[in-house]
Amino acid sequence: MRGFFIGRFQPYHHGHHEVIRKILDEVDELVIGIGSAQESHTLENPFTAGERILMISRALEELNAGRTYVVPLEDIYRNSLWVSHVCSMVPPFSIVYSNNPLVIRLFKEAGLKVVSTKLYRRVEYQGTEIRRRMLNGEEWESLVPEVVAEVIKGIDGVRRIREIAGKDV
Ligand code: NAD
Repeated sequence: MRGFFIGRFQPYHHGHHEVIRKILDEVDELVIGIGSAQESHTLENPFTAGERILMISRALEELNAGRTYVVPLEDIYRNSLWVSHVCSMVPPFSIVYSNNPLVIRLFKEAGLKVVSTKLYRRVEYQGTEIRRRMLNGEEWESLVPEVVAEVIKGIDGVRRIREIAGKDV
């Protein structure tokens, strides 16, 4: 059975990692969609699709994941057509894992089986909180897998966020 999980992964954090670890126990193959792939270099979406591919691929190595596909997906500004858009871009799948209400609703309306995922330490394991810490020069590394922190450091990601915000670096 092949499953599908989508996120923006700005950045990929321990919450995503725990969800994916669990999903991988249940499916033979997993398609991971990188949503809002067209976005980068903003405070909400600092990292490019390519950088997010790196973060996820490195983290998956650590999970000893079986067959996984990481596919960037640009947004389309018409929710009623989004599921068809996704299906046209990724390998076929028969089950969707999500905790995002809009994603759940759209896939259910399209007749797909959707399983709700659990949240892990949502207060800290959250993109908004991690980006806030990066911006304010606080500790953020413990909220993401070590390999993801290495990717972010390798691209000088914190400096990017602070420069975009107009903060002194
Ligand atoms: P996200 O990275 O915030 O979250 C991804 C998934 O991880 C979600 O299911 C979320 O609930 C889960 N998660 C987050 N923190 C967690 C934690 N601590 N513990 C456990 N799980 C946690 O990404 P998102 O915003 O949900 O991604 C949805 C993507 O789909 C977006 O890019 C959005 O633009 C796209 N989308 C596009 C359209 C369109 O183009 N019309 C429509 C619907 C969705």
